[in-house]
Amino acid sequence: ENFMPRPTRRRVMTVANQKGGVGKTTSAVNLAAGLALHGVRTLVIDLDPQGNASTALDVDHRSGTPSVYEMLIGEVSVVEATQVSAQSPNLLCVPATIDLAGAEIELVSMASRESRLKEALSKEALDELGVDYVFIDCPPSLGLLTVNALVAAHEVLIPIQCEYYALEGLGQLLSNIELVQRHLNQALSVSTILLTMYDGRTKLADQVTQEVRNHFGDVVLKTIIPRSVKVSEAPGYGQTILAYDPGSRGAMSYVDAARELAERGVSRERR
Ligand code: ADP
Ligand code: MG
Repeated sequence: ENFMPRPTRRRVMTVANQKGGVGKTTSAVNLAAGLALHGVRTLVIDLDPQGNASTALDVDHRSGTPSVYEMLIGEVSVVEATQVSAQSPNLLCVPATIDLAGAEIELVSMASRESRLKEALSKEALDELGVDYVFIDCPPSLGLLTVNALVAAHEVLIPIQCEYYALEGLGQLLSNIELVQRHLNQALSVSTILLTMYDGRTKLADQVTQEVRNHFGDVVLKTIIPRSVKVSEAPGYGQTILAYDPGSRGAMSYVDAARELAERGVSRERR
């Protein structure tokens, strides 16, 4: 099989954009599947009370299941909350249950409220799980859950939809990231931008692509994810696009993006 390189160091990547529907969850689960199916052990942390990543990976996320919520309040460890996806033994997931819906408010009065996820993701625990990549799938807001994700990560991956208003609101995300860098997590960087839902029939999609590349340069992955109905159907079957239709354009583009990500994770260290 066609293995992808393991990173020089474990990569913890927060998938963030406070806009809903831009492809955060789709990108988190499909990049994770792309890596996992090519031999790289990967954990997805579902940090959205909607639980869409848990659905796509078909892991149990009924209320009461050990989940990211219990992890944040310190009741269970990440090892105890982790489930293995049926799609690959290398594809792991900490689910989100509806219990997470109240966490944004509960966290406010808790000690070290911004760094509870970071504390739960200790080096020892992640070593025990043996994961090379961690993707944190954020909710569509810039609240405490997203702040926890930004504090826990080394890298931010921003999915940008190739649509009008694509860049709207991005300034707010970037200034929040700067605040976190300044006060809570100096090691954080925006390492990756992924263009999603590209529709080649529209001139607009090309304009947005060009604009994003001009603005962000090499941070933008060369691979662009096309808009495809199959990609949107897959979660309904509890599958990633790689399991649902591995030969589809959507699946192949996520494999390409995962490979690009994996290759950067090695060369970055050599420079
Ligand atoms: P977010 O997590 O940012 O809210 P999602 O990943 O849930 O966004 O995507 C929003 C919607 O668009 C979902 O219904 C998803 O299935 C669909 N979608 C995502 N990527 C694609 C794509 N490449 N082609 C078609 N539909 C997509
Ligand atoms: Mg989502």
